[in-house]
Amino acid sequence: MERETMCIQAGYSPKNGESRMIPIIQSTTFKYDTSEDMGKLFDLEASGYFYTRLQNPTNDMVAAKLAALEGGTAGMLTSSGQAANFFSIFNIATCGDHIVSASTIYGGTFNLFNVTMRKMGIDFTFVDPDCSDEELEKAFRPNTKAVFGETIANPALVVFDIERFAKAAHAHGVPLIVDNTFATPINCRPIEWGADIVTHSTTKYLDGHDATVGGAIIDGGKFDWMAHADKFPGLTTPDESYHGITYAEKFGLGGAFITKCTAQLMRDFGSIQAPMNAFLLNLGIESLAVRMPRHCENAQKVAEYLSSNDKVAWVTYPGLPGDKYYERAQKYMPNGTCGVISFGLKGGRAAAEAFMKNLKVAMIATHVADAHTCILHPANSTHRQLTDEELIAGGVGPDLIRLSVGIENVNDIIADIEQALA
Ligand SMILES: *Cc1c(COP(=O)(O)O)cnc(C)c1O
Repeated sequence: MERETMCIQAGYSPKNGESRMIPIIQSTTFKYDTSEDMGKLFDLEASGYFYTRLQNPTNDMVAAKLAALEGGTAGMLTSSGQAANFFSIFNIATCGDHIVSASTIYGGTFNLFNVTMRKMGIDFTFVDPDCSDEELEKAFRPNTKAVFGETIANPALVVFDIERFAKAAHAHGVPLIVDNTFATPINCRPIEWGADIVTHSTTKYLDGHDATVGGAIIDGGKFDWMAHADKFPGLTTPDESYHGITYAEKFGLGGAFITKCTAQLMRDFGSIQAPMNAFLLNLGIESLAVRMPRHCENAQKVAEYLSSNDKVAWVTYPGLPGDKYYERAQKYMPNGTCGVISFGLKGGRAAAEAFMKNLKVAMIATHVADAHTCILHPANSTHRQLTDEELIAGGVGPDLIRLSVGIENVNDIIADIEQALA
């Protein structure tokens, strides 16, 4: 199947007389005829459901659709993108381990890594995604367990050189984890470029309608845990909490990572997505292949309009010829990148504030990447506590405006920007 078809059909095929739509299994628990039947589930000897804190059929159907879209072997949904990124690393790294991450990642992920996961004893080295080979090489340590980056960084709009980072990770015997939230599997499939694990904040384009917070993890099924058994004991040695099964042996390359993540992390942390939310997420995914080209087409026109306007100081959009990441975007995302643009006005911070007050179509919101055009001035909202100097050091200058172009008629979006600039 092509991706357009997968968006509609993957993950669920009803049998004779069954519901056409993915059913919402709104149940905390599942019934068994005998204790032996249930016991097999608790030993991971049989597959099935027993409690929605770990797994739910609705979630699994939607996760299977996402796994198909990404070209992976297995997937799971989580309650948020934050939970997905946390699990993707905590599933293979523990106290005393180390991760190499691109520095240009989403602020929430940066805080998760740099503050909260450090408290858990996991160390991080943040590297400039355009650093030299020597710098990248120097970032690795004997206890490094993974490399992490975002296909298109939120909000820096840096395009990640997936192939290069995959090669470096594999040379050190560790997987590459890629957060593919902004590109979506419609525009880029990181696994095809060498990534091993893909994560998503499904809150953004996948849901696409501002309706549900959620996350997903997809395994590419290619990373050979047993070939690096000493680095990943959690996958390659017996789990006593499941009668001594060894995930990499029992579930193989394609299933070990997600099975362990579900059986241990979801069991213990319970960051499950509600089945109702998974149902809504699925509705969003059904139209993803239609929405993404429209987001990109609209954003392209808005970026071109902004870059030709004499009140605008600068525009960053990887789809614009001349953008620092234009060539790399053409390689990884020839059909389009995403709908998010950042720009600055010649009048700086004060002009940004006045401009935003006058917008009528584009609404001020902290959200990005959904059907509604929305706009944010970080210096005046999410990054309000920082001084201008600190803002510049963090790559989010006082004049930076982040515009997430929706799927409205682009003429209305441009007319709105035009009158607000005037
Ligand atoms: C929003 C976002 C997250 C966090 O996702 P939530 O669903 O808000 O928890 C992670 N990564 C990227 C790239 C994001 O844009």
